Amino acid sequence: MQYISTRATAGQAEPKRFCEILLEGLAPDGGLYLPTQYPQVDSATLTRWRSLPYADLAFEVLSLYVDDIPADDLRALCRKTYTSVVFGSEAIVPLKRLEEGLYLEALSNGPTLAFKDMAMQLLGNLFEYELARRGETLNIFGATSGDTGSAAEYAMRGKKGVRVFMTSPDGRMSPFQQAQMFSLLDDNIHNIAIRGVFDDCQDLVKAVSNDLAFKQRYKIGTVNSINWARLMAQVVYYFAGYFQATTANTERVSFCVPSGNFGNVCAGHVARMMGLPIEKLVVATNENDVLDEFFRTGVYRVRGTADTHETSSPSMDISKASNFERFVFDLLGRDSARVADLFGTALARTGAFDLHADPRFAQAASHYGFVSGKSTHADRIATIRDIWQRYGVMVDTHTADGLKVGQQVRQAGIPMLVLETALPIKFASTIVEALGREPERPAKFLGIEALPKRVRVMDADVNALKAYIASACD
Ligand SMILES: *Cc1c(COP(=O)(O)O)cnc(C)c1O
Repeated sequence: MQYISTRATAGQAEPKRFCEILLEGLAPDGGLYLPTQYPQVDSATLTRWRSLPYADLAFEVLSLYVDDIPADDLRALCRKTYTSVVFGSEAIVPLKRLEEGLYLEALSNGPTLAFKDMAMQLLGNLFEYELARRGETLNIFGATSGDTGSAAEYAMRGKKGVRVFMTSPDGRMSPFQQAQMFSLLDDNIHNIAIRGVFDDCQDLVKAVSNDLAFKQRYKIGTVNSINWARLMAQVVYYFAGYFQATTANTERVSFCVPSGNFGNVCAGHVARMMGLPIEKLVVATNENDVLDEFFRTGVYRVRGTADTHETSSPSMDISKASNFERFVFDLLGRDSARVADLFGTALARTGAFDLHADPRFAQAASHYGFVSGKSTHADRIATIRDIWQRYGVMVDTHTADGLKVGQQVRQAGIPMLVLETALPIKFASTIVEALGREPERPAKFLGIEALPKRVRVMDADVNALKAYIASACD
């Protein structure tokens, strides 16, 4: 299997293999990596995969995309990653039936209680394996307002060859999130609280990444959501959800996905392109409705800081959807020159592009199965209440956005699987607002606020930050 960039100039960029792109972020031309074609899964294969444990299903899916890790090693990495101890059940992603035709697929029982663990836990093991094989080290440097940073730290803690430097805005994460991250005392985990807001942290990451000499000398890398390996790991649970909801491969299901950066639902697109019988892929956004706007109108318009709302489903508060370029690449018949023009030129110049007049835009719905919808704070509160009252099930704010939109666009006879992307305990104050009670806390997180913490508080000063990274590496 080979990988190309969504912006590759014909005949210029060499296709790459999996382990080459594993540790890379963007392609050098600014595009995102995708396989040269999607491997096809036929009905006989689906039947064979139906009864596999999750880790072995992951191995089967991954081996279609990874041909530069020996099969036995890849299988061992999958088995080491997807265990009932780490993910809380044998099923790993158990499907919960709310009523006939409406399901929740639980993706958030991993170490940090959000779906990002599904991919990040695998990434941690893949990084450790590949770095050891090359005899290299990597320093992951990032900014977080909550979910991504903690998922990365729990995936990389104790891993050989990897250090994590994670900045977060001092005092602005929830007490639970702070406790989750700062109680990690592993030598290779560095929590840095910046006196400022999340944007200050992101600016620091950009400033460090722009210093190429520093970046090379200290082997700075990232684990952001455009990494192909993360997307690939997420493809697996679309298969696992399908197998739990159906008994025969002639049945079709729809998935509804709470979306921000378009990573999760892009994995659903990949699964559908491989031949998984998915009817609709429903994109559910919050008030930050960049994606809903596109699927309704054909206009993709990124937002400025002033138009990016702080909502009660904060992990979907995005101004642009960083994985969206992958889908547009497929939608436009893999025309990389056009993609480079839209994402490289038009977006940079005007902050928007418009595909509504392109005949291929209609195929987003007709051919690729995309539907979208939007949910607001009031919808979220009403949905959390409604689901609690009708089914006795407590859902988090992001999952509530998915349930709101998913129920709206459900079709008779086609099961709707809503992806549960976090547990309610992570967003307790909104749950209290909706239900007047605290969410349940999984036993492993009892009392974490009282654990010893390690965090370095610093000013938003790039030189001080570089000096800190350098001293931790030397
Ligand atoms: C990251 C995140 C999302 C959004 O996922 P994307 O892949 O960015 O679309 C939704 N819900 C939760 C809880 C998340 O952490």
